[in-house]
Amino acid sequence: MPVLCSTCTEKRAVLKRPKTGHSICKECFFWAFEEEVHQTIVAANLFKAGETVGIAASGGKDSTVLAHVMKLLNERYSYGLEMMLLSVDEGITGYRDDSLETVKRNQQQYELPLKIVSYEELYGWTMDAIVKQVGLKNNCTFCGVFRRQALDRGAIMLKVDKICTGHNADDIAETVLMNVLRGDIARLRRCTAISTSSEGDGVVPRCKPLKYAYEKEIVMYAYFKKLDYFSTECIYSPNAYRGHARTFLKDLESIRPSTIIDIIHSGENLSIRDGVKMPVQGTCSKCGYISSQTLCKSCVLLEGLNRGLPKLGIGKHHRLHDKIIANQPLTEKEERKLKVVDI
Ligand code: SF4
Ligand code: ZN
Repeated sequence: MPVLCSTCTEKRAVLKRPKTGHSICKECFFWAFEEEVHQTIVAANLFKAGETVGIAASGGKDSTVLAHVMKLLNERYSYGLEMMLLSVDEGITGYRDDSLETVKRNQQQYELPLKIVSYEELYGWTMDAIVKQVGLKNNCTFCGVFRRQALDRGAIMLKVDKICTGHNADDIAETVLMNVLRGDIARLRRCTAISTSSEGDGVVPRCKPLKYAYEKEIVMYAYFKKLDYFSTECIYSPNAYRGHARTFLKDLESIRPSTIIDIIHSGENLSIRDGVKMPVQGTCSKCGYISSQTLCKSCVLLEGLNRGLPKLGIGKHHRLHDKIIANQPLTEKEERKLKVVDI
């Protein structure tokens, strides 16, 4: 006897929802998934009619599902949003060039304007060149910092009011865990927020409409909807620490599926004791981007690359930043310390 869908009780169930464990038919799954994203958007008041929204698009499953669902909900519920795709080209041969082809097809399929900003044009460095200099251990630090700023710069060029990103529930739970493990209180407090307000000039507000969507359901949605997405991992993806947090989370999820949502709720409900020192946000003295130090992380990393001192922005070398700003020469010992890369 075929199992019937627990929602419509008419059609045959073709999948078991990872989030609820319910057996469900394809149509009811699509509807439930889309409605949950809609509820997330409405409950958090993510958008206002008339706004222009940039969808951060990498060609991967999350951002492809995000673009698809945002377009669909915008029409179904008349959000009144203008939408465009915004992509970052990190300059990773054999990975990003291929995934950007997917984004270009998505642009046609969804009939949305697309803007691509590249590390090469913004920073004068591709990730291929960065990896050649810094090796494969800290490359994601460079890439993550540069991407954050690149998205803001692209958003400003496009004049969008908001950026939405494809972060899903698993990503957020993973980040909560990592911040707990690292004792990063400032990030821990921020990382579960569904949206950030404009933190200063040059920073465009961001939001995460897929915050409560499970990764497994995103994959199922993309698969059953036959969406066109790119599923290869980055060739420079070591990120061992995040990898362990991810495996740990997946192990917990296999025992108790609600683990992901439970961790997010724990993160949301943490409160920080009064008197805990938090970084004070200011602006970078070089480029004007938001920063809690004199120089923003991006400028420090870039300076390190340009001077052939890749470790400048990795670890705590704040004392040396002042010397760099003042264009003072470094001692031989300091140079040595910043040159060594552990590959
Ligand atoms: Fe960049 Fe690292 Fe992600 Fe590759 S895995 S795209 S290098 S952050
Ligand atoms: Zn800067």
